[in-house]
Amino acid sequence: PEPGTPGARRVLLAAPRGYCAGVDRAVVTVEKALELYGPPVYVRKEIVHNKHVVRTLERRGAIFVEETDEVPEGARVIFSAHGVSPAVHEEARQRSLRTIDATCPLVTKVHREAVRFAADDYTILLIGHEGHEEVEGTAGEAPENTILVESPEHVDAVEVPDPERVVWLSQTTLSVDETMETVRRLRERFPALQDPPSDDICYATQNRQVAVKQMARECDLVIVVGSQNSSNSKRLVEVAVEHGARDGHLVDYAEEIDEAWLEGVRTVGVTSGASVPELLVRGVLERLAAHGYEDVQPVTAAEESILFALPTELRRDLKTAG
Ligand code: SF4
Repeated sequence: PEPGTPGARRVLLAAPRGYCAGVDRAVVTVEKALELYGPPVYVRKEIVHNKHVVRTLERRGAIFVEETDEVPEGARVIFSAHGVSPAVHEEARQRSLRTIDATCPLVTKVHREAVRFAADDYTILLIGHEGHEEVEGTAGEAPENTILVESPEHVDAVEVPDPERVVWLSQTTLSVDETMETVRRLRERFPALQDPPSDDICYATQNRQVAVKQMARECDLVIVVGSQNSSNSKRLVEVAVEHGARDGHLVDYAEEIDEAWLEGVRTVGVTSGASVPELLVRGVLERLAAHGYEDVQPVTAAEESILFALPTELRRDLKTAG
């Protein structure tokens, strides 16, 4: 059928999608550092959780390492958007590394909350995924005071020294609904549970989930562009399916779309995680168009205009370089 007629194939394209302010800042930080200091520039962990971004920066001379002890003494290292614990800053100091901290300011905000509540002898119930870099960084601010709570199912096992002094904090990229369910169950067990001073799940995570919820019910299939280790991207697939999409998949590249997914599909929803360049979404739209999904309709849940200044260390050097 022609576009617009009943039964025609179409794409619903979520907005906002893709780059958030924290990712944009982190990627630009590596690009500018490469221009200013010349390669190699070391980066601890993936600067953002996206395969394409990491490969592109590698080609330009960035060297990604897992830990600071892989960086030569005295060299320059950038810390990723997900943040690092104080122990990592200390290791870098001991190796005389010149550091540029590209931690997203919204992650830094959660670190500050952890420090403050720990100083007041609170137990911090940190909702997040075990092993995720952001969780390691935040928990590292107050390791003695922090208990990781992975999901609502983990709440019953939580034991705290003083049920009157408990606060919950969270990873910035979780499912809003699941997190609220975890909090509800935590509060049943610890009625004195305090909330964070402001939302820890960031604006970008929230907006991308709201947009997906708006379109999910109309979609036979939702394709989320993003990498497997990207927490916020994975959550988008889950949110889509929970809110009525018949099927949902995460892909790094258009080539990963399996034609079998498209069988009998009229409406495909498309969105992308906060670490995904728009170029990759374009690739997916082209591939879909080649299969007859040419009619692309936007579904806009919010406008975003937030921007973060580059890390101070880098701004200072850029200024000196004129
Ligand atoms: Fe910052 Fe949110 Fe983007 Fe993470 S997803 S880098 S917290 S803005």
